[in-house]
Amino acid sequence: MPNIVARSMGWHRMFQSFETKTDPSDGPPRLAALREHMMRAAVDAFLVPRADAHQGEYVAPRDERLTWLTGFTGSAGFAAVTSDHAGVFIDGRYRVQVKAQVALDKFTPVSWPEIKLADWLMEHLPRGAIVGFDSWLHTPDEMETLHKATADHGLVFTPISNMIDAIWQDQPAPPVGPLLIQPIEFAGETHDDKRARLAKALTGPAVITLPDSIAWLLNVRGSDIVRNPVPHAFAILHIDGSVDLFIDAAKVSEEVEAHLGAAVRLHGPDRFGPLLDGLTGPVQLDRKSVPVWVAERLETKEIKVQWKQDPCILPKARKNQQEINGMEAAHLRDGVAMAEFLCWLDTEAPSGKLTEIDVVRKLETLRRVDNGLRDISFETIAGAGPNGAIVHYRVTNDTNRPVTPGELLLVDSGGQYLDGTTDITRTVATGPVGDLEKTCFTKVLQGLIAISRVRWPEGLAGRDLDALARFPLWTAGLDYDHGTGHGVGAYLSVHEGPQRLARSSNVPLEVGMCLSNEPGYYREGAFGIRIENLIHVTRAPEIAGADNRKMLVFATLTYVPIDRRLIDKTLMSRAEIDWLNGYHAETNSRLGPRVSPVTQDWLARVTAPI
Ligand code: ZN
Ligand code: ZN
Repeated sequence: MPNIVARSMGWHRMFQSFETKTDPSDGPPRLAALREHMMRAAVDAFLVPRADAHQGEYVAPRDERLTWLTGFTGSAGFAAVTSDHAGVFIDGRYRVQVKAQVALDKFTPVSWPEIKLADWLMEHLPRGAIVGFDSWLHTPDEMETLHKATADHGLVFTPISNMIDAIWQDQPAPPVGPLLIQPIEFAGETHDDKRARLAKALTGPAVITLPDSIAWLLNVRGSDIVRNPVPHAFAILHIDGSVDLFIDAAKVSEEVEAHLGAAVRLHGPDRFGPLLDGLTGPVQLDRKSVPVWVAERLETKEIKVQWKQDPCILPKARKNQQEINGMEAAHLRDGVAMAEFLCWLDTEAPSGKLTEIDVVRKLETLRRVDNGLRDISFETIAGAGPNGAIVHYRVTNDTNRPVTPGELLLVDSGGQYLDGTTDITRTVATGPVGDLEKTCFTKVLQGLIAISRVRWPEGLAGRDLDALARFPLWTAGLDYDHGTGHGVGAYLSVHEGPQRLARSSNVPLEVGMCLSNEPGYYREGAFGIRIENLIHVTRAPEIAGADNRKMLVFATLTYVPIDRRLIDKTLMSRAEIDWLNGYHAETNSRLGPRVSPVTQDWLARVTAPI
C-alpha cells in the first residue's frame, strides 16, 4: 500500500470535476435563435427537458440541451419557452445554483414541483396554443399528465423534431462507447436463460428502452454515459426469447457479437422504426419510460399496445447469489479504500488545511488503488459544516469550503466495480463537537440500526419499514426530507427501482433486492448528518419456539467504521449497543487483514466496543 498519510494528491485525471463550465451570457442568443425557429415552425412554446430517449439519471453531452440553452447544470430540471417567457424549472436543491448560472433577465427560475408545468403553460399561453415537444424525450405518462391538466385550456401538444438540435451548431455526436461482456461469474445467469425465462411471461413482443434493463438482460455493460455503465440502445424481446437489438455497430466488437449469439439480432438504430412497423400486437410498452415516439409509431400502424412494466425491472432487482457475492466482494475492496480514507482524514483534518475538494480527490485516489474501480458511482458529496445540510451538495471550485476542525463532515460516495456497485455515507467529527450534534447523530444511527435489525413478515413493502428509521428522530421532534433507502444495481445504476424504503413505495421487498439504508438529519446553516450502508433482503433464520411465519431480514453489505466520537451511548438500548459492537467487530475482522499497517492500528482503535 502507498503511504496514505503523506499529502500526495495525484494529479491524474479524476472522474469527478470541480468546474462549473457554463457562462450565463451564452444563453440569451441561443434563446433568441430558438424563438426564431419556433416562429418559423408556428409553435407557441417548446419544451426542453434534461432527458434523453432512455430516461436515465445521466445524459450524454449531446443530450445536455437544457444546459446548452440555459446554462443550468443541475442533474434535474427542464425549461419551457414561449415567445416572451422562458421558465427554468428546478427543485429545491437548485434554487441557489440556478440564479448563478442563467441570465436572469431572459430566463425565469420556476420553483418545481410547487409550480406545475401545466399551470405555467396555461398562465403564459393563450387558449388553444401549440406546444411543441420532441417525442423521443418524453414518456406517455408525462404527456398524459400534461394533457389532462391543460384540457380545459385546450393546449395542443405537437410532436416536432428537436428545435435545440436544429440550432445547436456544434452539438456533439451520439456516444459510441464499446459494449463489454459482463462475465457469467458476476451475472450468475446466462442471457439465454434470462431471455427464455422472461419470454414465458410475455403475451406479445416487449419494447425495452431502459439501458440498464438491456444491459442486465444481455449480460453486457456499456460506456455511453458517465457513472452508469450502460449502453444507449433499444431492444425488442419476442415471445420466442429472441431479441432485436438496435445499436450503433461501432459499439459491438466481434467478441461481443459472439457472446450475444444468433438469437440476438443486431440492427442499426435507424432500423428501430421499420421493425416496430412489422410487429404483431399487442406490443408491451412501459408508459413510465418508453418514448412517446414509439407509442405513436405503433399507433400510426394500428398495432395494439399493452401498457406493462418493463419485464426486466423486477427480475433485475432480485439479485441472484453470484450477484450478491459480487456485491460483497466489491464492498470489501471499497471498504478498504474507505478505511484508508477515514484514517487519513483523522490524521489530516485537525490541521484545518483541508478543503472539501481535497477530501473528494483523496477518496477517489484511494478507490483507484489496485481496486478494480471502473468509475465512481456518482459525484462524491463532501459537505463540511453547513454544506453538509445541503442534501445533494456537490463541491465545485466556487463552493469549495475548508474542513474546519470541530465541525461535522458528511461524505457520501461510491464506486462502480465489475462485480458490484457501492454507495456509502459516513459523517465524521473533525475535532470535538457539541452535544446537539452528538444527540442527532445518535438518533440517526439508531434509525440505521432499527432497519438493520428488523425482521418482517413476507409481503411488506418499503413504506411499511420506512418509519422505523425515523422513530428515534420523530420522538425528538426531528425528521429528514428524503426516503430512507433506494434500490441499487449490481454494476449498474446506483439508483435502481422499483423497490425503495420510502413512504411512497408499495413494492413488496423480496429476497435478493439490494437497497440503501440511509437515514439522516439536516440542520440548515449548521450541519448535516447521514449514515448509509447498503443492505440486501434475505430469509430470516428460524427462531426456536416461534410461529412458523415466513419472515425476511436485511443482511449488511457495507462494513466501514461509524464514528464513535459522535455517539451518546446513554441514549442507546443494550440491543443497539450490541448491534454496533458486533458490526464494528465484523468490520475490523473483514478489513483489518487488507489495510495498510497504519490503518490497521487505527481500525482496531475505532472499532473497539463502546
Ligand atoms: Zn449515498
Ligand atoms: Zn444512497
